[in-house]
Amino acid sequence: MDSFIRLYSDAISEIASHYEKTISFRRLSRDENNYGDIMGRIGRTVYISDEEVGMIGLTDPEIFAALAHEVGHIVYHTHDWQPDCEQRADMLAAYLGLGSQMIAAIEKILDSRRFSKLTSLLIGRIHFLQNMMRG
Ligand SMILES: [Zn+2]
Repeated sequence: MDSFIRLYSDAISEIASHYEKTISFRRLSRDENNYGDIMGRIGRTVYISDEEVGMIGLTDPEIFAALAHEVGHIVYHTHDWQPDCEQRADMLAAYLGLGSQMIAAIEKILDSRRFSKLTSLLIGRIHFLQNMMRG
């Protein structure tokens, strides 16, 4: 989390220069994490559960990609012209050079079978990222 901020905050400020508010990050303790979230956001705060991230087996670069996705939701949130919020959020990860790490993270989430209702959405995100990286 700290290294994500150190490595990517400048690049994010540049890519999302329209966004001028501060985004904060915090760890979610086991007690607070009633829904077993891996990661998420409340307002302008991105939160992450180390336990859940560990269970899914995300590597550091995959965690960076997932954090970038959450930041993407925040910085692009107010634009209703966007075709799809998830794809828009994934674009920020790809812009940061974390597209393949984002795909790997989504594949691990799929493999965990914890979000089976989201399977088609997650597969759609992989295809979107693959197309984006090809183009
Ligand atoms: Zn999302």
